[in-house]
Amino acid sequence: MSDPFFTLLRGAEVLAPKNIGRQDILLAGERIAAIGEHLSAPAGYACEIADLEGCILMPGFIDSHVHLIGGGGEGGYATRTPEIVLSKVTGSGVTTVVGCLGTDGTTRHVASLLAKARGLEAEGISTYIYTGAYQVPTPTITGSVRDDIILIDKIIGSGEIAMADHRSAQPSCAEYRKLAAEARVGGMLSSKAGVVDMHMGDGSDGMRMLFEITANGEIPKTQFIPTHLNRNEKLFEEAILWAKEGGIMDITSGVSPASGSAKAVKPSAAARRALAAGVEITQITMSSDGNGSMPVFDAQGNTIGVGVASQASMLEEIRDMVKKEGIAPDQAVRIVTSNVARVLKLPRKGQVAAGMDADFTLVDEDFRLRHVWARGQHMVADGQVIVRGTFE
Ligand code: ZN
Repeated sequence: MSDPFFTLLRGAEVLAPKNIGRQDILLAGERIAAIGEHLSAPAGYACEIADLEGCILMPGFIDSHVHLIGGGGEGGYATRTPEIVLSKVTGSGVTTVVGCLGTDGTTRHVASLLAKARGLEAEGISTYIYTGAYQVPTPTITGSVRDDIILIDKIIGSGEIAMADHRSAQPSCAEYRKLAAEARVGGMLSSKAGVVDMHMGDGSDGMRMLFEITANGEIPKTQFIPTHLNRNEKLFEEAILWAKEGGIMDITSGVSPASGSAKAVKPSAAARRALAAGVEITQITMSSDGNGSMPVFDAQGNTIGVGVASQASMLEEIRDMVKKEGIAPDQAVRIVTSNVARVLKLPRKGQVAAGMDADFTLVDEDFRLRHVWARGQHMVADGQVIVRGTFE
Protein backbone atom coordinates (compact mmCIF):
# COMPACT_ATOMS: atom_id res chain seq x y z
CA MET A 1 0.00 0.00 0.00
CA SER A 2 1.30 3.44 -0.85
CA ASP A 3 1.60 6.27 1.67
CA PRO A 4 -1.43 8.53 2.20
CA PHE A 5 -1.56 11.47 -0.22
CA PHE A 6 -1.96 13.94 2.67
CA THR A 7 0.48 14.54 5.51
CA LEU A 8 0.00 16.95 8.40
CA LEU A 9 3.11 18.23 10.16
CA ARG A 10 2.12 19.59 13.57
CA GLY A 11 3.64 22.03 15.97
CA ALA A 12 7.16 22.74 14.68
CA GLU A 13 8.75 26.17 14.92
CA VAL A 14 9.10 27.25 11.29
CA LEU A 15 12.00 29.13 9.73
CA ALA A 16 10.57 29.75 6.28
CA PRO A 17 13.47 31.00 6.34
CA LYS A 18 11.71 33.96 7.99
CA ASN A 19 10.74 32.99 11.52
CA ILE A 20 6.96 32.49 11.34
CA GLY A 21 6.64 30.77 14.70
CA ARG A 22 4.81 27.57 15.50
CA GLN A 23 2.79 26.38 12.51
CA ASP A 24 1.05 23.32 11.14
CA ILE A 25 1.84 22.38 7.55
CA LEU A 26 -0.44 20.32 5.33
CA LEU A 27 1.23 18.43 2.48
CA ALA A 28 -0.63 17.24 -0.60
CA GLY A 29 1.59 14.74 -2.38
CA GLU A 30 4.92 16.39 -3.13
CA ARG A 31 3.79 19.97 -2.42
CA ILE A 32 2.83 22.23 0.48
CA ALA A 33 -0.94 22.75 0.39
CA ALA A 34 -1.40 25.02 3.42
CA ILE A 35 0.33 26.53 6.43
CA GLY A 36 -1.58 27.70 9.49
CA GLU A 37 -1.79 27.70 13.25
CA HIS A 38 -4.29 24.90 13.84
CA LEU A 39 -4.85 22.94 10.67
CA SER A 40 -6.92 19.78 10.69
CA ALA A 41 -6.53 16.74 8.48
CA PRO A 42 -8.80 16.85 5.39
CA ALA A 43 -12.06 15.06 6.33
CA GLY A 44 -12.67 11.75 4.62
CA TYR A 45 -9.11 11.19 3.40
CA ALA A 46 -6.25 9.14 4.78
CA CYS A 47 -3.69 11.50 6.29
CA GLU A 48 -0.40 10.76 8.02
CA ILE A 49 0.09 12.97 11.08
CA ALA A 50 3.50 13.84 12.50
CA ASP A 51 3.83 15.52 15.89
CA LEU A 52 6.89 17.75 15.64
CA GLU A 53 6.71 19.74 18.86
CA GLY A 54 10.20 20.82 19.92
CA CYS A 55 11.54 20.73 16.36
CA ILE A 56 12.74 23.62 14.21
CA LEU A 57 11.51 23.16 10.64
CA MET A 58 13.52 24.71 7.79
CA PRO A 59 13.34 24.39 4.00
CA GLY A 60 15.26 21.30 2.87
CA PHE A 61 18.92 22.16 2.35
CA ILE A 62 20.09 22.73 -1.23
CA ASP A 63 23.66 21.57 -1.82
CA SER A 64 24.92 23.17 -5.04
CA HIS A 65 28.21 21.31 -5.33
CA VAL A 66 28.25 17.53 -4.86
CA HIS A 67 30.34 14.91 -6.65
CA LEU A 68 27.41 12.52 -7.18
CA ILE A 69 29.38 9.94 -9.18
CA GLY A 70 32.54 10.51 -7.17
CA GLY A 71 35.56 12.70 -7.68
CA GLY A 72 39.22 12.72 -6.92
CA GLY A 73 41.64 10.34 -8.56
CA GLU A 74 44.58 12.68 -8.03
CA GLY A 75 46.42 9.90 -6.21
CA GLY A 76 45.89 7.41 -9.06
CA TYR A 77 43.01 5.17 -10.09
CA ALA A 78 42.60 3.66 -6.64
CA THR A 79 41.75 7.11 -5.23
CA ARG A 80 38.68 7.67 -7.43
CA THR A 81 35.85 8.07 -4.92
CA PRO A 82 32.70 5.94 -5.34
CA GLU A 83 29.17 7.11 -6.22
CA ILE A 84 27.04 8.66 -3.51
CA VAL A 85 24.04 6.81 -2.05
CA LEU A 86 20.67 8.29 -1.13
CA SER A 87 20.98 7.99 2.66
CA LYS A 88 24.22 10.00 2.68
CA VAL A 89 22.32 12.91 1.14
CA THR A 90 19.13 12.81 3.20
CA GLY A 91 21.04 11.81 6.35
CA SER A 92 22.85 15.16 6.04
CA GLY A 93 19.61 17.14 5.90
CA VAL A 94 19.96 17.77 2.17
CA THR A 95 16.94 17.38 -0.16
CA THR A 96 18.22 19.02 -3.36
CA VAL A 97 21.63 18.51 -4.93
CA VAL A 98 23.49 19.89 -7.91
CA GLY A 99 25.95 17.28 -9.15
CA CYS A 100 29.26 18.05 -10.78
CA LEU A 101 32.39 16.37 -12.12
CA GLY A 102 35.80 17.60 -10.99
CA THR A 103 39.44 17.07 -11.86
CA ASP A 104 38.75 13.98 -13.94
CA GLY A 105 36.80 14.79 -17.09
CA THR A 106 38.35 11.83 -18.92
CA THR A 107 37.18 8.69 -17.13
CA ARG A 108 34.04 10.37 -15.76
CA HIS A 109 31.36 11.73 -18.05
CA VAL A 110 28.53 14.24 -17.94
CA ALA A 111 26.16 11.56 -19.29
CA SER A 112 26.94 9.27 -16.33
CA LEU A 113 26.38 12.20 -13.98
CA LEU A 114 23.01 12.86 -15.63
CA ALA A 115 21.99 9.22 -15.21
CA LYS A 116 23.02 9.28 -11.54
CA ALA A 117 21.00 12.47 -10.98
CA ARG A 118 17.96 10.85 -12.56
CA GLY A 119 18.43 7.80 -10.33
CA LEU A 120 18.53 9.90 -7.15
CA GLU A 121 15.46 11.81 -8.31
CA ALA A 122 13.63 8.49 -8.75
CA GLU A 123 14.69 7.57 -5.21
CA GLY A 124 12.99 10.70 -3.85
CA ILE A 125 15.23 13.79 -3.73
CA SER A 126 15.53 16.65 -6.25
CA THR A 127 18.56 16.80 -8.50
CA TYR A 128 20.25 19.01 -11.07
CA ILE A 129 23.70 18.92 -12.63
CA TYR A 130 26.36 21.15 -14.15
CA THR A 131 27.83 20.24 -17.52
CA GLY A 132 31.61 20.20 -17.71
CA ALA A 133 34.61 19.39 -15.54
CA TYR A 134 37.77 21.23 -14.45
CA GLN A 135 39.14 21.71 -17.95
CA VAL A 136 38.35 24.30 -20.64
CA PRO A 137 37.19 23.51 -23.32
CA THR A 138 34.99 21.47 -21.05
CA PRO A 139 33.32 18.09 -21.70
CA THR A 140 29.59 18.16 -22.47
CA ILE A 141 26.89 15.78 -23.74
CA THR A 142 25.84 17.54 -26.96
CA GLY A 143 29.20 19.12 -27.79
CA SER A 144 28.30 22.56 -26.45
CA VAL A 145 27.69 24.03 -23.01
CA ARG A 146 24.96 26.23 -24.43
CA ASP A 147 23.12 23.34 -26.13
CA ASP A 148 23.42 21.13 -23.03
CA ILE A 149 21.72 23.81 -20.91
CA ILE A 150 18.99 24.47 -23.46
CA LEU A 151 18.23 20.86 -24.36
CA ILE A 152 18.74 18.84 -21.18
CA ASP A 153 16.31 19.61 -18.36
CA LYS A 154 18.60 18.74 -15.45
CA ILE A 155 21.53 20.82 -16.69
CA ILE A 156 21.25 24.30 -15.14
CA GLY A 157 24.76 25.62 -15.73
CA SER A 158 28.37 24.64 -16.24
CA GLY A 159 30.96 23.49 -13.72
CA GLU A 160 32.96 22.86 -11.85
CA ILE A 161 35.48 24.80 -13.91
CA ALA A 162 38.91 25.15 -12.30
CA MET A 163 40.65 28.51 -11.91
CA ALA A 164 43.83 29.49 -10.07
CA ASP A 165 44.66 25.84 -9.55
CA HIS A 166 47.57 23.67 -10.70
CA ARG A 167 44.99 21.10 -11.85
CA SER A 168 43.20 23.55 -14.19
CA ALA A 169 43.80 23.61 -17.98
CA GLN A 170 45.33 27.09 -17.53
CA PRO A 171 42.81 28.81 -19.81
CA SER A 172 43.06 32.50 -20.68
CA CYS A 173 40.57 35.14 -19.60
CA ALA A 174 39.08 35.01 -23.11
CA GLU A 175 38.44 31.29 -22.86
CA TYR A 176 36.68 31.60 -19.50
CA ARG A 177 34.69 34.54 -20.83
CA LYS A 178 33.56 32.52 -23.86
CA LEU A 179 32.39 29.69 -21.63
CA ALA A 180 30.46 32.10 -19.40
CA ALA A 181 28.79 33.65 -22.45
CA GLU A 182 27.68 30.22 -23.67
CA ALA A 183 26.24 29.36 -20.28
CA ARG A 184 24.56 32.74 -20.01
CA VAL A 185 22.74 32.52 -23.36
CA GLY A 186 21.90 28.86 -22.71
CA GLY A 187 20.29 29.91 -19.44
CA MET A 188 18.36 32.77 -21.04
CA LEU A 189 16.88 30.58 -23.77
CA SER A 190 15.78 27.90 -21.30
CA SER A 191 14.76 30.03 -18.26
CA LYS A 192 17.57 28.53 -16.22
CA ALA A 193 20.31 30.11 -14.15
CA GLY A 194 23.04 29.38 -16.72
CA VAL A 195 25.66 29.96 -14.06
CA VAL A 196 29.28 28.81 -14.12
CA ASP A 197 30.35 27.09 -10.92
CA MET A 198 34.01 27.99 -10.47
CA HIS A 199 36.39 25.83 -8.47
CA MET A 200 38.82 28.35 -6.99
CA GLY A 201 42.20 26.84 -6.12
CA ASP A 202 45.11 27.97 -3.99
CA GLY A 203 46.90 29.62 -6.95
CA SER A 204 48.34 33.07 -6.33
CA ASP A 205 46.23 34.55 -9.16
CA GLY A 206 43.15 34.13 -6.95
CA MET A 207 40.02 35.82 -8.32
CA ARG A 208 41.89 38.28 -10.56
CA MET A 209 40.48 36.86 -13.81
CA LEU A 210 36.91 36.81 -12.50
CA PHE A 211 37.16 40.50 -11.66
CA GLU A 212 38.64 41.17 -15.10
CA ILE A 213 36.01 39.15 -17.02
CA THR A 214 33.14 40.93 -15.25
CA ALA A 215 34.72 44.40 -15.12
CA ASN A 216 32.67 45.99 -17.91
CA GLY A 217 29.42 44.36 -16.76
CA GLU A 218 28.62 42.60 -20.04
CA ILE A 219 29.01 39.30 -18.21
CA PRO A 220 27.58 40.13 -14.76
CA LYS A 221 29.28 38.85 -11.61
CA THR A 222 26.15 36.81 -10.86
CA GLN A 223 26.90 34.59 -13.89
CA PHE A 224 29.57 32.93 -11.78
CA ILE A 225 29.39 31.00 -8.54
CA PRO A 226 32.97 30.93 -7.31
CA THR A 227 33.29 28.25 -4.65
CA HIS A 228 35.82 27.02 -2.03
CA LEU A 229 36.34 30.74 -1.24
CA ASN A 230 37.20 30.02 2.38
CA ARG A 231 40.15 27.79 1.41
CA ASN A 232 42.75 30.42 2.34
CA GLU A 233 42.86 33.88 3.87
CA LYS A 234 43.87 35.77 0.73
CA LEU A 235 41.13 34.22 -1.40
CA PHE A 236 38.60 34.89 1.33
CA GLU A 237 39.52 38.59 1.45
CA GLU A 238 39.06 38.82 -2.33
CA ALA A 239 35.72 37.04 -1.99
CA ILE A 240 34.49 39.68 0.45
CA LEU A 241 35.25 42.37 -2.13
CA TRP A 242 33.57 40.28 -4.86
CA ALA A 243 30.43 39.84 -2.76
CA LYS A 244 30.29 43.53 -1.82
CA GLU A 245 30.33 44.31 -5.54
CA GLY A 246 27.30 42.08 -6.12
CA GLY A 247 28.89 38.67 -6.66
CA ILE A 248 27.99 35.45 -4.87
CA MET A 249 30.33 34.08 -2.23
CA ASP A 250 30.03 30.30 -2.02
CA ILE A 251 31.64 28.90 1.11
CA THR A 252 32.59 25.21 1.12
CA SER A 253 31.44 23.56 4.34
CA GLY A 254 33.84 20.64 3.83
CA VAL A 255 36.88 22.94 3.72
CA SER A 256 37.89 23.62 7.29
CA PRO A 257 40.94 23.42 9.55
CA ALA A 258 39.21 20.56 11.40
CA SER A 259 38.94 18.51 8.19
CA GLY A 260 42.61 18.88 7.36
CA SER A 261 42.74 22.19 5.45
CA ALA A 262 45.11 24.01 7.78
CA LYS A 263 45.00 27.31 5.84
CA ALA A 264 41.20 27.41 5.55
CA VAL A 265 38.83 29.84 7.22
CA LYS A 266 36.31 27.78 9.19
CA PRO A 267 33.02 28.02 7.25
CA SER A 268 30.89 29.28 10.14
CA ALA A 269 33.51 31.94 10.96
CA ALA A 270 33.70 32.89 7.28
CA ALA A 271 29.98 33.68 7.28
CA ARG A 272 30.26 35.76 10.43
CA ARG A 273 33.32 37.64 9.14
CA ALA A 274 31.71 38.33 5.73
CA LEU A 275 28.61 39.78 7.41
CA ALA A 276 30.76 41.88 9.75
CA ALA A 277 32.68 43.20 6.72
CA GLY A 278 29.44 44.46 5.20
CA VAL A 279 28.53 41.62 2.83
CA GLU A 280 24.74 41.30 2.47
CA ILE A 281 23.38 37.94 3.67
CA THR A 282 21.75 37.53 0.23
CA GLN A 283 25.21 37.22 -1.37
CA ILE A 284 26.36 34.26 0.76
CA THR A 285 25.73 30.61 -0.07
CA MET A 286 27.32 27.40 1.18
CA SER A 287 27.81 24.02 -0.50
CA SER A 288 29.52 20.88 0.77
CA ASP A 289 31.87 19.66 -2.01
CA GLY A 290 30.52 16.35 -0.73
CA ASN A 291 31.59 12.95 -2.01
CA GLY A 292 34.85 14.30 -3.42
CA SER A 293 38.17 12.98 -2.19
CA MET A 294 39.60 14.30 1.04
CA PRO A 295 43.11 13.67 2.28
CA VAL A 296 43.26 12.11 5.75
CA PHE A 297 45.98 13.32 8.11
CA ASP A 298 47.47 11.85 11.27
CA ALA A 299 47.98 13.87 14.46
CA GLN A 300 51.30 15.20 13.11
CA GLY A 301 49.68 16.41 9.89
CA ASN A 302 51.10 13.69 7.63
CA THR A 303 48.87 12.39 4.85
CA ILE A 304 47.92 8.83 5.72
CA GLY A 305 45.19 8.17 3.20
CA VAL A 306 42.23 9.46 1.26
CA GLY A 307 38.68 9.70 2.58
CA VAL A 308 35.38 10.76 1.07
CA ALA A 309 34.03 14.20 1.99
CA SER A 310 30.61 14.20 3.62
CA GLN A 311 27.67 16.54 3.17
CA ALA A 312 27.08 16.42 6.93
CA SER A 313 29.41 19.41 7.30
CA MET A 314 26.63 21.69 6.01
CA LEU A 315 24.40 21.21 9.02
CA GLU A 316 27.40 21.23 11.36
CA GLU A 317 28.48 24.64 10.05
CA ILE A 318 24.93 26.06 10.17
CA ARG A 319 24.80 24.88 13.81
CA ASP A 320 28.12 26.62 14.54
CA MET A 321 26.94 29.81 12.82
CA VAL A 322 24.00 29.89 15.24
CA LYS A 323 25.57 28.45 18.39
CA LYS A 324 29.13 29.82 18.17
CA GLU A 325 29.13 32.79 15.81
CA GLY A 326 25.93 34.49 16.95
CA ILE A 327 24.22 34.55 13.53
CA ALA A 328 20.42 34.55 13.90
CA PRO A 329 18.93 31.17 12.89
CA ASP A 330 16.60 32.73 10.30
CA GLN A 331 19.66 34.32 8.66
CA ALA A 332 21.96 31.29 8.81
CA VAL A 333 19.38 29.02 7.20
CA ARG A 334 19.10 31.30 4.15
CA ILE A 335 22.70 30.46 3.24
CA VAL A 336 21.72 26.86 2.39
CA THR A 337 18.11 27.39 1.27
CA SER A 338 16.49 30.54 -0.17
CA ASN A 339 19.73 32.19 -1.31
CA VAL A 340 20.74 29.08 -3.24
CA ALA A 341 17.29 28.67 -4.79
CA ARG A 342 17.38 32.29 -5.97
CA VAL A 343 20.86 32.06 -7.47
CA LEU A 344 20.11 28.75 -9.20
CA LYS A 345 16.59 29.85 -10.28
CA LEU A 346 14.79 26.94 -8.63
CA PRO A 347 11.31 28.46 -8.24
CA ARG A 348 9.72 25.84 -5.96
CA LYS A 349 12.72 25.38 -3.68
CA GLY A 350 14.25 27.10 -0.68
CA GLN A 351 11.14 28.38 1.09
CA VAL A 352 8.37 27.01 3.27
CA ALA A 353 5.20 28.42 1.67
CA ALA A 354 2.02 27.09 0.10
CA GLY A 355 2.67 25.77 -3.40
CA MET A 356 6.36 25.09 -2.79
CA ASP A 357 7.87 21.60 -2.85
CA ALA A 358 7.47 19.72 0.44
CA ASP A 359 11.20 19.60 1.27
CA PHE A 360 12.02 20.04 4.95
CA THR A 361 14.98 19.68 7.26
CA LEU A 362 14.08 19.52 10.95
CA VAL A 363 16.44 19.87 13.87
CA ASP A 364 16.15 19.99 17.64
CA GLU A 365 17.09 23.08 19.64
CA ASP A 366 20.78 22.05 19.47
CA PHE A 367 20.53 21.82 15.67
CA ARG A 368 20.88 18.04 15.60
CA LEU A 369 19.06 16.42 12.68
CA ARG A 370 15.64 15.00 13.63
CA HIS A 371 13.59 14.63 10.44
CA VAL A 372 13.76 15.10 6.70
CA TRP A 373 10.96 15.20 4.16
CA ALA A 374 11.88 15.30 0.47
CA ARG A 375 9.15 15.94 -2.10
CA GLY A 376 6.59 14.95 0.54
CA GLN A 377 8.27 11.69 1.51
CA HIS A 378 9.47 11.13 5.07
CA MET A 379 13.16 10.21 4.60
CA VAL A 380 14.65 10.66 8.09
CA ALA A 381 12.56 10.04 11.22
CA ASP A 382 13.75 10.74 14.78
CA GLY A 383 17.32 11.05 13.53
CA GLN A 384 17.30 7.74 11.62
CA VAL A 385 17.30 7.29 7.84
CA ILE A 386 14.12 5.35 6.99
CA VAL A 387 14.30 5.32 3.17
CA ARG A 388 17.36 3.80 1.53
CA GLY A 389 18.63 3.86 -2.04
CA THR A 390 18.33 0.91 -4.41
CA PHE A 391 21.69 -0.68 -3.51
CA GLU A 392 21.88 0.20 0.18
ZN1 ZN B 1 36.39 21.94 -6.42
